[in-house]
Amino acid sequence: MSDIAHSTVTLDGHFAREFKEMAIPWRAEEAPDPDLLVLNEPLAAELSLDPAFLRSPEGLLLLIGNALPAEASPVAQAYAGHQFGWYASRLGDGRALLLGEIRHADGQLRDLHLKGSGRTPFARNGDGQAVVGPMLREFIVSESMHALNIPTTRSLAVVATGRSVQRETLLPGAILTRVASSHLRVGSFQYAGSTGDTGLLRRLADYALDRHYPTAVEAENRYLALLQGVISAQAALVAQWMLVGFVHGVMNTDNMTISGETLDYGPCAFMEGFDPAVVYSSIDETGRYAYRNQPLVAEWNLARLAESLLPLLHDDQEQAVDLAVEALGEFRRQYSGTWSAGMKAKLGLHEGLDDEVTSPLVDELVALLQESRADYTSFFRHLGKAARGQAETARSQVSDPAAFDDWVARWRALAPDADSMDGVNPVYIPRNHLVEEALTAATAGNTGPLKQLMDAVASPFDERPGLERYAAPAPDSFGPYRTFCGT
Ligand code: AMP
Ligand code: MG
Repeated sequence: MSDIAHSTVTLDGHFAREFKEMAIPWRAEEAPDPDLLVLNEPLAAELSLDPAFLRSPEGLLLLIGNALPAEASPVAQAYAGHQFGWYASRLGDGRALLLGEIRHADGQLRDLHLKGSGRTPFARNGDGQAVVGPMLREFIVSESMHALNIPTTRSLAVVATGRSVQRETLLPGAILTRVASSHLRVGSFQYAGSTGDTGLLRRLADYALDRHYPTAVEAENRYLALLQGVISAQAALVAQWMLVGFVHGVMNTDNMTISGETLDYGPCAFMEGFDPAVVYSSIDETGRYAYRNQPLVAEWNLARLAESLLPLLHDDQEQAVDLAVEALGEFRRQYSGTWSAGMKAKLGLHEGLDDEVTSPLVDELVALLQESRADYTSFFRHLGKAARGQAETARSQVSDPAAFDDWVARWRALAPDADSMDGVNPVYIPRNHLVEEALTAATAGNTGPLKQLMDAVASPFDERPGLERYAAPAPDSFGPYRTFCGT
């Protein structure tokens, strides 16, 4: 482990300094033969990091935490969490590290974080490693979400370590360099709350307010305002997932952020044929995290956050509970509001149109999609053509063309705006078969397909000739899709 003093990299250690109870100083394991697989140059620029430097041997060592500025104080963060409904009082970064905070061009701090950087004191039985496929999957899907204007942690780089990692077979190891508004989770508050140290809980809440909800400190009850802020942010986030057909796959409370960014891309996937019950995670046997359950689970997770915050909401516990319940009641209203507005936008309908007119149209369309198992993404894109009078492609995707014709006639009478539809209905999402193709090739040493896929999903609304295969659903031969957790 060497230190570097590269003048352009300033890593603060704010969390490490202020939250010693929740941060274990730790160092990344040394990688035997680091090799940069992919670098996010636009994101590097936003962080004032020179891509040429990051590509240099010294820069590579920074990206994997093997050579850090002298002032850096990397830590493994402690957190608790409900996993599939079961409470674990001590999870924490078992294979991850917070390197420190770095200033973004927007003036806000970002966490610079590693995933796959070796065992930490939180590792339990885990090996501390991550492998190329899943780290590239997070890179692809998180950057795709960003391009879709959905709040998310970002991916700066994936570096192969040169180490072989035992999974079902031996696989090449890798480290993801992740950038986030913070890594504060519902599980961070569960951890702080469970210590019984209200001082720690208050400091953590103040830190979250400072980083994510600075205007909430003006509120009469700033901790209630924090809870309300997280509820709003998560209601909006999950509504956006639903609108784009995204299934997170492992919505444990330790994977739900305080910032409202999507966190932790494990067994996630974009839905193809519309099926509200769809589950992609191989370990989600009961379908707890199925597409249609996501708003309910988010609400359940936020109730866990509210419980943790109770001692800060009011000195009188009964009154604290009343405040929490009232705040949680807002989730459904805000979720439904964002979802309905988003559906209107997907249909190109003027936002001023009365919900009593638009809701039945939306409901009928959703029923038609479900009955037809129509490809969710391409159907909405083709609907843009239908708004221009060319309904044939969308019509060919439904099982009841007569019902569709009737629906289109009523919809077009409301004058849908085709151009605005094209700005919200993506052409390119990271389709599962293309992600698998890119990961398989990259694991075997060829990052060409990964780069082509990234090109497509980086501008999801901009249809380009030559990229037709990136807009098409998986061939039938691809079969039902499953992804695997925690690898
Ligand atoms: P996740 O399912 O990725 O959100 O991880 C849940 C918990 O398991 C976290 O505490 C992780 O740090 C830990 N974990 C997952 N995989 C590993 C691994 N290979 N080695 C050590 N800890 C791990
Ligand atoms: Mg996690």
